[in-house]
Amino acid sequence: MKILLVCSEALPYCKSGGLADFIFSFSKALKEEGQDVSVILPYYNSIKYKFPETNKEIYDKFGFDMGTHYQGCTTYFYDLNGVKYFFTCTDRFERDGMYGYYDDTERFACFMMAVNTFITRHNDFDVVHCNDWQSAVLPLLLHYNPRHEIKTVLTIHNPAYQGWARRDDVYNFFKLDTNYFDSGYCRLNNCFNYLKTGIMASKKVNTVSKNHANELINDHLGYSGIGAIIDYCKHNDFTGIVNGLDIDVWNPKTDHNLVCNYDVNTYESGKAKNKEAILNKLGLKNDFKGPLVSAITRLSDQKGVDRLMQVFPYLKNYDAKYIVIGTGEKEGDFLYQSLPYKEVYFVKNYDENLAHLLYAASDFFLMPSYFEPCGTSQLISMRYGTIPIVSSVGGLVDTVHDMSTNELATGYVFNNSDPGAFISCFKSAMDFYLSNDPFIKKVITNGMTGDYSWKKSCKEYLELYNSITW
Ligand code: ADP
Repeated sequence: MKILLVCSEALPYCKSGGLADFIFSFSKALKEEGQDVSVILPYYNSIKYKFPETNKEIYDKFGFDMGTHYQGCTTYFYDLNGVKYFFTCTDRFERDGMYGYYDDTERFACFMMAVNTFITRHNDFDVVHCNDWQSAVLPLLLHYNPRHEIKTVLTIHNPAYQGWARRDDVYNFFKLDTNYFDSGYCRLNNCFNYLKTGIMASKKVNTVSKNHANELINDHLGYSGIGAIIDYCKHNDFTGIVNGLDIDVWNPKTDHNLVCNYDVNTYESGKAKNKEAILNKLGLKNDFKGPLVSAITRLSDQKGVDRLMQVFPYLKNYDAKYIVIGTGEKEGDFLYQSLPYKEVYFVKNYDENLAHLLYAASDFFLMPSYFEPCGTSQLISMRYGTIPIVSSVGGLVDTVHDMSTNELATGYVFNNSDPGAFISCFKSAMDFYLSNDPFIKKVITNGMTGDYSWKKSCKEYLELYNSITW
């Protein structure tokens, strides 16, 4: 099958969160299954300058009509271990960052129009697989493709981000008839909504865990009503497929960011050495008897930043240290609130290498999200022998086995709807650590030996593609 993954971020080129991990590891897994895989994404300045090998080969040059103006585009090509990467270079992406600009909806409209033209010019893809709002209108554009049998799939990685534009932008950005808006097809709360458009226009829609798929279907009011739209319009064509992890990249046995590699038999000494190393690196003393607790996250409301701060006053009681690596809209709050606590060390940065070391060094990883379609960090933690403490939402429920499952336990899952549950769960985890209970080894071993690979989920995606009929 010839598959095109359309996305706004992909490792190793650019990353703001789990989508970049998804594209890199999933494309690699599809390739290993013998599929012909391509990835297409915008050519951000950061890729152009940090990865000069990507601007050696011009694949195609074309122009397209965006409704109000004509736009030029150069497509670059790079083969990354058998996965074909295409980068659409337009003036809209000649900026340092990926998102957060006033004209993001127009920028990504330009990206989708470029990809649509690219597909028309190289019209042999069997599946066009879009991801999140930044590529969600493309399936509608493909309704006008002369080859009607292109299979379209939309994966929702985060339903909170939807791409909101105005009625006239249906024409001004996409040169589509504004009747799509007037009829309600792409209208939500009287705005043009990219995610809704993708849900309506794609043959199949999925999200990134079974539990989050149920949450979406059942929560008609959440996420501006996106769940209700899925329930009414796509019920039988909607599913949940949990994300895998790139188990070659995230492998404590071979990870070159660690000072000491380890596996399930050597994790005690291995983790101790990595703990020593990160404390040294950050100028902290190894003078505590309690656990090293960590979080590596976007500091946004979704991730439970308020909960991540609630633990500050309790750390001292357990002689624990708390290292957090994060950036985002709540970073100022987090920094300010953490200042009085010498047990807390905050790295206000995006630092991939340090993140690897911290996963290896920590005893517990906090992930108290208010919603989490799948989540990647809890999988990495378990693989690195770090016990996750997670809320009972989305993919966290599907991937972490709570202590109450006894022999199967891999971490702590607290009740998201109970306001006191997080802190009492945190306290039991700290007590458990200090009690030297031998069961802790079982929990860590279960986590480290779990199967987080793409094998099963990759198969489910292939079945999803194959299930599309005309
Ligand atoms: P989301 O995609 O919602 O941000 P995920 O848990 O799916 O959350 O993925 C987050 C990924 O980004 C993980 O691989 C995590 O290690 C990484 N990450 C998040 N913030 C940082 C940071 N400040 N520095 C390094 N890695 C980070």
